[in-house]
Amino acid sequence: LPVVAIIGRPNVGKSTLFNRLVGRRIALVDDRPGVTRDRREGEATVGDLEFIAIDTAGLEDAEEATLAGRMRAQTMSAVEGADIILFVMDARVGITPEDEYFAGIVRKAGKPVVLVANKAEGHGGTAGAYDAFRLGLGDPVPLSAEHNEGFVDLYQALNAAIGHEPPEEDEDEEDDGPRGPLSIAVVGRPNAGKSTLINRLVGEDRLLTGPEAGITRDSIAVDLVWRGRDIRLVDTAGMRRKARIQDKLEKLAVSDSLRSIQFAEVVVVMLDATIPFEKQDLQIADLVSREGRALVIALNKWDLVEERAGAMKRHREAADRLLAQVRGMPLVPISAATGEGVDRLMEAVLQAHEVWNRRVPTARINRWLEGVLEHHPPPAVRGARVKLRYMTQTKARPPTFVLFGTRTSVLPESYVRYLVNGLREAFELPGTPIRLTFREPK
Ligand code: GDP
Repeated sequence: LPVVAIIGRPNVGKSTLFNRLVGRRIALVDDRPGVTRDRREGEATVGDLEFIAIDTAGLEDAEEATLAGRMRAQTMSAVEGADIILFVMDARVGITPEDEYFAGIVRKAGKPVVLVANKAEGHGGTAGAYDAFRLGLGDPVPLSAEHNEGFVDLYQALNAAIGHEPPEEDEDEEDDGPRGPLSIAVVGRPNAGKSTLINRLVGEDRLLTGPEAGITRDSIAVDLVWRGRDIRLVDTAGMRRKARIQDKLEKLAVSDSLRSIQFAEVVVVMLDATIPFEKQDLQIADLVSREGRALVIALNKWDLVEERAGAMKRHREAADRLLAQVRGMPLVPISAATGEGVDRLMEAVLQAHEVWNRRVPTARINRWLEGVLEHHPPPAVRGARVKLRYMTQTKARPPTFVLFGTRTSVLPESYVRYLVNGLREAFELPGTPIRLTFREPK
């Protein structure tokens, strides 16, 4: 029989769920001393599904002082021995940092997960159940273990999980472990000055000077430390161009950028400030946004620009108008040749990275949503009333939101844009692509 481990922080109702699943059959309590004492096992059924349920809830009576460590050890070992994980959260409380901690353990296991939003009797926990989306463990099943509600949905979810692929692991997800280098790509049209900037950052010409410099076409990366921060300059056209046939460059610039963009967290789109915002520049920037990367625009060759204040104002306006999908993006004038502005560019890169990683608490998002609905509700479309109910951020890198409501498919594009721009302003997310998707609640 498949082994299903019931995991979650204390008091979410794991024992109640366990008892419900195992029913009258006597749970086998392992009496050996040590960790195993904390766990109960029993043969469980939901509909015609049979499995071994493991409950880690015995821990809830443990002494405070030792609880955290034992809970962790117990959860780890239960997860390890399980085929499927039943992750329980409390729909009346919503997601707590402790839930996130346990969810982190579960995500790393890469096993199929059924997420249960417990205590959701009588729709009482609707908001909390939606909140559970942001654990990144899939769609929550609202349930009341105590009132015996929602078990048909649980049956379906378990059925799907048995013999199901493990959930996609979100490798981008941050954890508390050591962080790798921040990866940056520098892209842009030929002659924008990419190589010059990279040389300046790397501090020597060794990699880029000659056609025989040993640059291979695959996976070029240069590591450097900038103000104590580990930076990896990933495969960029500027690093490869010297090894390439020059006359193909113009055509290749956009498609070539894609590869670099996909390797990077933050992408610096380099423009030649004397001829900025050409079609190809915009295409490249749009690609960065569509790939969901953090974007910073460098206006290079600033040393050649006269009347800088006026130029900056014009460029700012042009950028926000022509690249409205990433409005407010950092726009940094630099001279790669003289080094002027390069420090500020790197500051902007770090900051863009931070924005791209930002997580907005669900409560704040919904306070904001309430205001939106009051002052600028969605229009009725052909008599259909769209109802927007609840919003949560499901992911960072880039910030990704889910909005629950009914008939959201008829929302006009302009209203969706309004929402995205509103999120951008309310939660200070300039320049980063923002993903917004809609869901109909069950
Ligand atoms: P890439 O094709 O984007 O890698 O561009 P390069 O780095 O090879 O630079 C193209 C040309 O622009 C070279 O002649 C550089 O010397 C020049 N250049 C690069 N940065 C600057 C700058 O900040 N100011 C000026 N005036 N020229 C620059």
